[in-house]
Amino acid sequence: MPKAARGRDFYIATADEIRAGRTTDIYFVRTLDVLKKAGRDRARVVAEVTTGTLPNAWPWAVFCGLQEVAHLLEGKAVSLWALPEGTVFPPKTPRGIPLPVAIVEGPYGEWALFETPLLGMICQASGIATKAARIHKAANGRQVLSFGVRRMHPGIAPLIERSVYVGGLDAITTPLGAELLGAPAVGTMPHSLVIVMGGPREAFAAVHKYLEANIPRIALVDTYYDEKTETLLAVEAIPDLAGVRLDTPASRRGNFPAIVREVRWELDLRGHKDVKIFVSGSIDEKSIPALLDAGVDGFGVGTSLSNAPTIDFAMDIVEVDGKPAAKRGKFGGRKDLQRCPKDGTYEVGVRTCPQCNSNMVSAYTKYLDAGRVASPLPSLEEVRDRTIRETQRAALES
Ligand SMILES: [Zn+2]
Repeated sequence: MPKAARGRDFYIATADEIRAGRTTDIYFVRTLDVLKKAGRDRARVVAEVTTGTLPNAWPWAVFCGLQEVAHLLEGKAVSLWALPEGTVFPPKTPRGIPLPVAIVEGPYGEWALFETPLLGMICQASGIATKAARIHKAANGRQVLSFGVRRMHPGIAPLIERSVYVGGLDAITTPLGAELLGAPAVGTMPHSLVIVMGGPREAFAAVHKYLEANIPRIALVDTYYDEKTETLLAVEAIPDLAGVRLDTPASRRGNFPAIVREVRWELDLRGHKDVKIFVSGSIDEKSIPALLDAGVDGFGVGTSLSNAPTIDFAMDIVEVDGKPAAKRGKFGGRKDLQRCPKDGTYEVGVRTCPQCNSNMVSAYTKYLDAGRVASPLPSLEEVRDRTIRETQRAALES
């Protein structure tokens, strides 16, 4: 079988190739060559990472992916300031200044090749984390699981799982993700189990008998028959049934909340108030409220998470050799972004909160000083807690 190239089976860049700048856009390689020959590659440059707008006109986003950026730049003679991961930010400050989420400073030749991978690390992770946070918020405390890994290349499965977990989701689904993140991997059962076993009755009996004892039993109840029919088969076959999952195909769905209500009613009628109802299949923010009203206890969300729109961050030079400089359409000069510790209001160069008059503090943490670690990166749980705390702020519009 022909290999992709150079003996590799999969089209994924290695960590060494990313660190060596091999995934950069070639114009940076050529620019660096020209600057070296012109004796300008050591010019001291400050660049800011901003996005003027967010996808779908979202009013806020979750900053995610910085841990990888810090690892990418560590050991190169650059300094890095950024909002801590998990921070919620609007695209612009109240005064209309595009909000810088990170600042890089150092000789241009040290980081020119890393603009492309740096942006890729935060654009995608922040997009997924933001979507996850929006869905987590919409689910109003009910469990949300990520089912989206299968929609993207497996090479970035851990990145997707980290981002959804940062966004506040309750669990991820792959063994590798669980190992790398120290987060729980959960799952119910696939249709294939029902089909290979010969039907729901046989599948539920096998789950009852053979699924590891400590794994909660959640039966998938839409493979061959009506959801209500299969739910009743499941409660008969599995005495300690924890829940049922409805993954009703779109072609049969009709009124999905009405199906959920009916299943809830039948479960309650037969004394199974403790059996939870999970739904999956094309679930998105918009479909969640009606399903919550119908009594859904948990959601499996796939494509809308893993295929979340990226946050289109740009990295722009704002200062060269100590002097403000910027291209057309960008605000030159380094921004002193401040934030109110009480209500989260941002503004550039303001010491008193325009909302509540509290003293503002710098919005940034300095993570690298000339390539050396200046502040330790927060743990994953700290990042996730920050996201949840900040997205629960009452004032945050959706
Ligand atoms: Zn304030």
